[in-house]
Amino acid sequence: MSDLSSPVTALKGVGEALAVKLARLGIERISDLVFHLPLRYQDRTRLTPIGLLRAGHEAVVEGEVTASDVVKGRRRSLLIRLRDGSGILSLRFFHFSPAQQQQLRPGVTVRAFGEARAGATGLEIYHPEYRLSGGSETPVEEYYTPIYPTTEGLHQTRLRALTQQALGILAQTPEVLPDVIPDTLRQRFGLPGLHASLQLLHQPPPEADLEQLAHGHHPATRRLALEELLAHQLSLREVRLRIQADGAPELPSGRNLQTRFLAQLPFALTGAQRRVLEEIALDLARPAPMLRLVQGDVGSGKTVVAAMAALSALAGNCQAAMMAPTEILAEQHYRAFKAWFEPLGIEVAWLAGKLKGKARLDTKAAIADGRARMVVGTHALFQADVHFQCLGLAIIDEQHRFGVHQRLALREKGEAGGLTPHQLIMTATPIPRTLAMSAYADLDVSVIDELPPGRTPVKTVVVSDERRPEVVERIRNACSDGRQAYWVCTLIEESEALQCQAAEVTRDELTQALPELAVGLVHGRMKSSEKAEVMTAFKAGELDLLVATTVIEVGVDVPNASLMIIENPERLGLSQLHQLRGRVGRGSTESFCVLLYHPPLSKSSRQRLAVMRETTDGFRIAEKDLEIRGPGEVLGTRQTGLAQMKIADLERDADLLERVTALAQALQGDTDVTTVLVRRWLGEAAGRYGQV
Ligand code: ADP
Ligand code: MG
Repeated sequence: MSDLSSPVTALKGVGEALAVKLARLGIERISDLVFHLPLRYQDRTRLTPIGLLRAGHEAVVEGEVTASDVVKGRRRSLLIRLRDGSGILSLRFFHFSPAQQQQLRPGVTVRAFGEARAGATGLEIYHPEYRLSGGSETPVEEYYTPIYPTTEGLHQTRLRALTQQALGILAQTPEVLPDVIPDTLRQRFGLPGLHASLQLLHQPPPEADLEQLAHGHHPATRRLALEELLAHQLSLREVRLRIQADGAPELPSGRNLQTRFLAQLPFALTGAQRRVLEEIALDLARPAPMLRLVQGDVGSGKTVVAAMAALSALAGNCQAAMMAPTEILAEQHYRAFKAWFEPLGIEVAWLAGKLKGKARLDTKAAIADGRARMVVGTHALFQADVHFQCLGLAIIDEQHRFGVHQRLALREKGEAGGLTPHQLIMTATPIPRTLAMSAYADLDVSVIDELPPGRTPVKTVVVSDERRPEVVERIRNACSDGRQAYWVCTLIEESEALQCQAAEVTRDELTQALPELAVGLVHGRMKSSEKAEVMTAFKAGELDLLVATTVIEVGVDVPNASLMIIENPERLGLSQLHQLRGRVGRGSTESFCVLLYHPPLSKSSRQRLAVMRETTDGFRIAEKDLEIRGPGEVLGTRQTGLAQMKIADLERDADLLERVTALAQALQGDTDVTTVLVRRWLGEAAGRYGQV
């Protein structure tokens, strides 16, 4: 006998062709149908008197045909006039057959369903679903009618019938889909049962609140959303437990090295940096791998924290690696670490995709035999052919570009020594706490909530591009005072090629307008060696003005740059603007950011840009961004999996997150529950998260 875990072909009437269509919807097993929830509902549970119909409303009406005519307008159509005791309505068909025309003749009673709209003859329904009815004895629908997401060639009625079959099987073999949230917890959190929730969502009774259902606020939707969020969180906790079950090298503080390192810095650590370093030191001293996320606004000094942590690993006779998401950044870190560590007698190696041939082989050899103690690079460090002698600490910078999978892949890097490396992840994206607990349930979080002293906040102005010439003058003035400027080009098209082209055009224009300045260009399509050359020249002050695409977004550090122009800032998210703006205001001179928009600005764009003008607080900006764009965008959650949830919506269900975390804490370690939930909600992805 088939049960919910059987393939859909076990259902009556499902052959290969239909199975292919269902697969396009992600429906392969019968249980997938049960979790394929309606997008919305139609109310066919009652007849609406024609006189009460309003444009835009979907309704079932019933009446007598009083006229049937083929009318010639711009398009020929069949126009049926329908009357009940309360009013008159037209049904209009642009495609119709002679048989249909014959069937809908005056005198017959018709029941029709569709959306009323204001038409040439008053209210009209175009192409209604209809049938002839003998009058009021035939019942309307008993339940609200679900409308499912579907695919070409698969009709709603078909999908509905299949779902009904699946629900029938669920009723016969309920044990196949157990409600694993224990009764006590369900009661404590006020959750309806799993089966009841599914049943209700596929077949809402007429007393259900359609408004709540439409907006995903119905307790049944929320029960499922909560379960899905819980599954994600449990799977991340599972990853954490699994990684922490491995051994890790117990690393000493390395106080000696650290003191020498600090002595050569031109500044003292901030209180926040010291606090976070203490948290890290406690983790590193334990024999289980650290899994820690450090959040710190742009410019809060995360790199120094990374270097201090690395010194602990080195003092423990292990290697440390630091990974950055782009070559520009990796190279910048490489240079910083080289300058800091070589005076301490520590060899720093560099590995990125562009390193080729003998140089690559040599570097890999130095990493493998332990000569290279500190290794800086891009994700090239993750590749299978890179072996460490003993990797004690892996630092991942700007983590939102990396995901859980890479985090897991790191485990293997430590295998040569039989120990898993500690992991330190750095991000400049401040994330509200409840959200962080869901998105990063596998990580502990530290926050650097203090900027180094002596920074003057960047002044931001919002200027229409009609005033471009003034802005160009402003660059001239800043640069003639010996300072440097960025000009950032954005483009609405996804195409990187177009964006780079636009940047080239802008570079040419600015070169012409500012002949006395040295203008450089960096964009994503340049070879990384070219990019690095330009960045180096800019850093060295050989270039006055750097025209760039958003590739400079993360981490680039040129303290002498005090002016940034961002073209078409309305196209970027607030967090991204904040990151960009963080490139200036790194030195002691007052810095400016000009948001050069293209009018007219929509009201919401104006509000968004106003936020940028009013605050430089990354946390506030992130919260606004969250309100405006939603958590998927803010977190860059594609990698974390949270963006592809079936039912839950981080934004809509944000208020569930605290309960989810409490439940996850209560259920953590219960492998049966975790296994069921993770498989149910993450399916394939569960394999990717878990079985590494
Ligand atoms: P981010 O957190 O954005 O990665 P960085 O690590 O690049 O920031 O640091 C930004 C700048 O601040 C660097 O030039 C760095 O040397 C400097 N810096 C870091 N910590 C301090 C500190 N405690 N006092 C003064 N300057 C600091
Ligand atoms: Mg940084």
